[in-house]
Amino acid sequence: MERKRACKHCHRLFIPVRNPQQQFCSRSKCQNVRKSTWRREKHKHDPDYRENQNQASKRWRKKNPGYWRHYRAAHPPYTEGNRYKQRQRNQVFYKGPEPPYPSKASQFANSDALTHKNSVKAGTYQLIPLSYGEVANSDALIVNISVIPRGYQQMGEVCKHTTL
Ligand SMILES: [Zn+2]
Repeated sequence: MERKRACKHCHRLFIPVRNPQQQFCSRSKCQNVRKSTWRREKHKHDPDYRENQNQASKRWRKKNPGYWRHYRAAHPPYTEGNRYKQRQRNQVFYKGPEPPYPSKASQFANSDALTHKNSVKAGTYQLIPLSYGEVANSDALIVNISVIPRGYQQMGEVCKHTTL
């Protein structure tokens, strides 16, 4: 008798083909979910796997310089979607003072702060255009600054190019 079970992703009933422990049906969507879940877990718990993956993507980036820059330029919805998701993550993880703007007294950050690596904290900042040293408050822009972790400098380049 054939034993059907429910797919862990789409919940449709299916008959395991080769592996009796199979938890996902063979639809490509569900198989993709299975694989990415596996990779995510492996990445989280297996330092060797993590190191191998990092080395491999480093080699790949070296072999394919500018790939992501071109990809993003050619796929604006993809870039916009990523930006949106990053903004969501920034909001979730923002641990700074509330509201996330500097108070009047400390409104002007030391300009050195932006030249030192690791001294810029991710968060929401006001970008205030200066004209002849005067502050043009009415034109202040709110910007989000995300800190790019070490090893992602190349990605940083990409972001700079696509956001400007
Ligand atoms: Zn399924």
